[in-house]
Amino acid sequence: MSALDIVGDDLKTELPSGETVRFAHLDYAASAPCAQAAAQAVAELLPRYGSVHRGTGVRSQTSTVAYEVARDVVAEFVGARPGDEVIFTRNTTDALNLLARALPEGTTTIVFEGEHHANLLPWPNPLRLPAPASPEEALNAVEGALARVTGPAVLTVTGASNVTGEVWPIRELSDLAHAHGVRVIVDAAQLAPHLPVSLDQLGADYLAFSGHKLYAPFGAGVLAGRADWLDAAGPYLHGGGASATVGDHPGELTWATGPARHEGGTPNLLGAVSVAAVCAALLTADRDALHRHEQRLLARLRAGLPEGVREVSLFGPDHPRVGIVSLALPGHDPAQVAHRLGRDHGIGVRAGQFCAHPLVRRLVDTDRTDACGSPGTGLLRASWGLGSTEEDVDRFTRALSGVVHS
Ligand code: PMP
Repeated sequence: MSALDIVGDDLKTELPSGETVRFAHLDYAASAPCAQAAAQAVAELLPRYGSVHRGTGVRSQTSTVAYEVARDVVAEFVGARPGDEVIFTRNTTDALNLLARALPEGTTTIVFEGEHHANLLPWPNPLRLPAPASPEEALNAVEGALARVTGPAVLTVTGASNVTGEVWPIRELSDLAHAHGVRVIVDAAQLAPHLPVSLDQLGADYLAFSGHKLYAPFGAGVLAGRADWLDAAGPYLHGGGASATVGDHPGELTWATGPARHEGGTPNLLGAVSVAAVCAALLTADRDALHRHEQRLLARLRAGLPEGVREVSLFGPDHPRVGIVSLALPGHDPAQVAHRLGRDHGIGVRAGQFCAHPLVRRLVDTDRTDACGSPGTGLLRASWGLGSTEEDVDRFTRALSGVVHS
C-alpha cells in the first residue's frame, strides 16, 4: 500500500436485493476516508504515546517530539513564512472561531454570503457581501467594501466552495486587500484536500483546514498564519498549557506565547500526527496528476448526468473547481434521492443545504427562475478525491438516472 492509498477502499455493503457491492463513497467533502499515511502514523504511535509537553520519560519525550515535528511538517505544507505559526485545533470551525476572537478590537470582517457557516458566523463585526456571479464581481465587491470600511478590516473567503467546488481567486483577492492594508483569511477546508495551499503562494495571511477532510481521522484541524495578532490576543482556552505562570490571586498570571497560547489543555497528539502524515505524503505526491484524475472524474460525471438534472454554479461551468458538484433535481426531493442511492445502490452522497444556507438558497432560487429547482429541499452533492474511481462515478450517474426517471 502506498501512503496515499485509502484504508477500507474495498468496504462492502449489502443491497435490499441481497447483492453485496463495494460501497461507492462520494461524500468526501463531508469527511474523506483515511489515507494509509495517517493510519500508519497512528499505528506507530499508539504503543508509545504519553503526554505532550508535560512529562519526563520516553513516552512523553517521544510524544513531544512527534507533536512538534507534526507542526513543522504542517508549516511546510501551508508554505509558512517567517512570522507565521501553526496552531492545532479541533477542525476548521474551531480554527476560524479561534481567529475570530484574536482579531484586533473593532475589526470589520468582509465576508461573502456564499461561505460555509463556519466562515460566516464566527466574525464579530461582519460586513456581508452577496455571493458574486463571477470572480470579477467578487473582486469588484471587495474593492467597494474596502473603500467603504472605516477602521481596521480583514477579508475572509473560502478557497473552494463546499457546495459548488468552485475555486476562488485567492491570489487576486489577497493582492487587492493587501493594497488596502487588509489581511486575508482563507477557509481552506475544501481546497487543501485537492490543491496545494501555500500561504506564500496564495499571498494569504491565514489558512484554516480540517484533518478529517484531508484523509486523516477526526478531531484535528489547523490554523496557520501571522503570529502577531495571535500572540497579542487573549488565549482561546484558559487553562494548563496556555498559562506560563499563575500566582496565588486571580488575575496574577502570564499567558504563554506562540502556539501554546491557544492550545490550552492536553493536545490531540494522534490527530496532529495523522494530519501531518498526510501533509507529508501530499508534499511529495504528484498533485497535478491527482488533480487531473479528479478532473477526469468530473468530466465523466457531467457526461453521465441524466436529462433534467443540472449542476449548479456561481461562476459558470467552465470555472476551475475541485471534486465537488451539487445538483438541482427538478421535481425530486434530494434527501429522498440520496436515501435511495444509499439503500438501493450502495452509494454515499449528501443532500440538503451543506451548512451554507444563504448560498444554497441563492443557487436554488436561480434554478427556480428557470423551473429547474427544488425549493426548500436543497441540492444533491457528490464529491470525490483520492481513491475515487470511474466506476464510482458511473455507478452514481447510472443509479441517479434510474432514481429520477423511475
Ligand atoms: N468550511 C468549509 C468550506 C467546509 O466545507 C467545512 C465542512 N463542511 C467547514 C468549513 C467546517 O469544517 P469542520 O466541520 O471540519 O469544522
